[in-house]
Amino acid sequence: MKYRSTRGKVNGIPFSEAVMMGLADDGGLLLPESIPLLSATELQQMADLSYPQLALRVLSHYIDDIPQAELKELIDRSYATFLHPEVTPVMHKDGLFILELFHGPTLAFKDIALQLLGNLFEYMLAKTGSHMNIIGATSGDTGSAAIYGVRGKKGVNIFILHPKGKVSPIQEMQMTTVTDPNVFNIAVEGTFDDAQAIVKEIFGDLDYKQKHALGAVNSINWARVLAQVVYYFYAFFQVQKTTGCSEVEFSVPTGNFGDIFAGYVAKQMGLPIKKLILATNGNNILSRFVNSGDYSAAKVNHSLSPSMDIQVASNFERYLFYLYEGNSARICAAMETFKKEGVLPVSAEELSQAQQIFSAASITDAETLATIGEFAFSTGYILDPHTAVGVQAGKRVGSGDCPLICLATAHPAKFGEAVYAACGEDPELPSAFQGIDQLEKRLETLPADITVIKDYVTRYALS
Ligand SMILES: *Cc1c(COP(=O)(O)O)cnc(C)c1O
Repeated sequence: MKYRSTRGKVNGIPFSEAVMMGLADDGGLLLPESIPLLSATELQQMADLSYPQLALRVLSHYIDDIPQAELKELIDRSYATFLHPEVTPVMHKDGLFILELFHGPTLAFKDIALQLLGNLFEYMLAKTGSHMNIIGATSGDTGSAAIYGVRGKKGVNIFILHPKGKVSPIQEMQMTTVTDPNVFNIAVEGTFDDAQAIVKEIFGDLDYKQKHALGAVNSINWARVLAQVVYYFYAFFQVQKTTGCSEVEFSVPTGNFGDIFAGYVAKQMGLPIKKLILATNGNNILSRFVNSGDYSAAKVNHSLSPSMDIQVASNFERYLFYLYEGNSARICAAMETFKKEGVLPVSAEELSQAQQIFSAASITDAETLATIGEFAFSTGYILDPHTAVGVQAGKRVGSGDCPLICLATAHPAKFGEAVYAACGEDPELPSAFQGIDQLEKRLETLPADITVIKDYVTRYALS
């Protein structure tokens, strides 16, 4: 399988190059040249596979430049770090199915992609005898999942900036108690926006970027999307076994459109998904698009589901590429229009096509709290605020004529304050995390000053 960019100027590159490139060199997003359609026989053969076996099966359709035995070893190692033997188990509660994606080392679904990505980076860097310095800014989830993805890996150093005192205590502890010598936590004396602006400016210095082999781990990397395709298959087979259903719907708490785009890929591969339900919080650019074609950016408001607080969804261009029938010139023009006028041109017919695949709903913070409270009351099961957004959207716009699978993207203990406000209970931390507050911490506190931060990175970067 070869890869190409949505913008049309990068073509015919192998998987490993696509992974190392991240964002395509022409500013677009990388996609496989085709999405393989699986036969009914192959789907049947997949139904009883374990999670890592299934991952190998799905990924092999997209990766032909890593020998099978080595790919298998990378996958096995990536999912051995999960705290549940099934990796992504499915629970049946209150008439719906909850797909638990939070059993990885940082208790959020990003681990599923980043555990694999870390191993892929290490493998590819070793092959080429090169190294990489990852820099990123985080408001919480992505940074810690990235740190756990590459901790202790050879050929990679990682520098993660977080706003000092402005991430949740559990998120701060998760990051700063990782004391592997290749991990550098920087607490920036400023806001998340300050930290992000510094990272952007560092990447904008192309000489510096090249000299220090800078890399990113943001959600536009194709390998991240690919890793997430697997659990749509896994969940479908589990639910099919208990219900005998011939199709399902998924409700997906959505921010940057990476997770739900993986569901779209699974559907294009022939997995019988009736609808993908796109669930947003009050930052609802994507649900507005699905419901009325209005893709116009608004100001970001902080919500109880912070990992979905986005203005522009970085993976949406991937779906748009298919909606525009692979017309790169139109993608380039649309992105230009969006930049200038803040709106995306789609025809009525294209909108109706999108509506055949997606349903959408936007859920307020008050509705999120009510959902957590009601669900805990009726089932005893505690939802995290992101998952609650998905559950509520699923109840509201699900078709009701096939099983509904709601993606649980974070463990409730990560967002204990909101959960407590909703149902008066403090969710218990999994045993692997108890005592985390006693562990040694390693971090550097620096001012929000690009010169100081660049000096620090220069001093500790691999070269
Ligand atoms: C990142 C994240 C999301 C949103 O996923 P996207 O791929 O950005 O749409 C939802 N929930 C949690 C807990 C997350 O960390």
